[in-house]
Amino acid sequence: MRFTVIGCSGSMPGPASPASCYLVQAEHEGRTWSIALDLGNGSTGPMRSFLDPIDLDAVVLSHLHPDHCLDVCSLYVAINYTPGRSRESRMPVYAPPGAHERLGRAYGVEQPENLDGRYEFVDLVARRPFTVGPFTITPVPVFHPVEAYGLRVEADGAVLAYTGDTDICPELSELCADADLVLADCAYVDGRDDSEGVHMSGSKCARAALDAGGVKRLMLTHIPAWNDPEVCRAQAAAIWPGDVEIARPLATYDL
Ligand SMILES: [Zn+2]
Ligand SMILES: [Zn+2]
Repeated sequence: MRFTVIGCSGSMPGPASPASCYLVQAEHEGRTWSIALDLGNGSTGPMRSFLDPIDLDAVVLSHLHPDHCLDVCSLYVAINYTPGRSRESRMPVYAPPGAHERLGRAYGVEQPENLDGRYEFVDLVARRPFTVGPFTITPVPVFHPVEAYGLRVEADGAVLAYTGDTDICPELSELCADADLVLADCAYVDGRDDSEGVHMSGSKCARAALDAGGVKRLMLTHIPAWNDPEVCRAQAAAIWPGDVEIARPLATYDL
């Protein structure tokens, strides 16, 4: 299994990256399978350096804040209007309940059902795994102002644990236990941001990964343009015993 950081800018696009989106790929039955974890604003642009987003096998949305889902609208345009190209089947979009209506409104269709010609919306259910090709994906509820899930993705014997947006919470242990890599929301800075139930700081990311047990790599992501990533890294490194990695736009990681 490998994943590519398509977008890692927290809360909105930044100068070097769109908002949240991670392309996860694995070989299976003679071809490459590709899923997107989140499809934040701007993400379908740089995704084209790796594959035409029309060819994704599925989209999985951690929650319905715009920086995690708005490019579902851009993808709808691509599926409908790319000259000479389309899809044989509807694209599965796994998302918290309400995605259908929300994204229909964002696109501007009066009847959200109009999106059904291209998308098949499937509600995420806490702790109920589902499969897409070689991937088994388990949504774990996390601590954010709206219904939100961390996504535990397993394939080829490897585990990627993506926290989505969350404050530290006990559920992060079931999400992250024994993960080969934890991709953790680090929008907050210790000493500056203290509201509960929204995001983690570097120290909270490290604490969550340590408490889960067996985590091999810790990577900070969702760092907004107004943060200094090295401050986030230092706050995590004070607790995490190994290297603290920072997600880099367009970088690919093998797990
Ligand atoms: Zn976010
Ligand atoms: Zn959010």
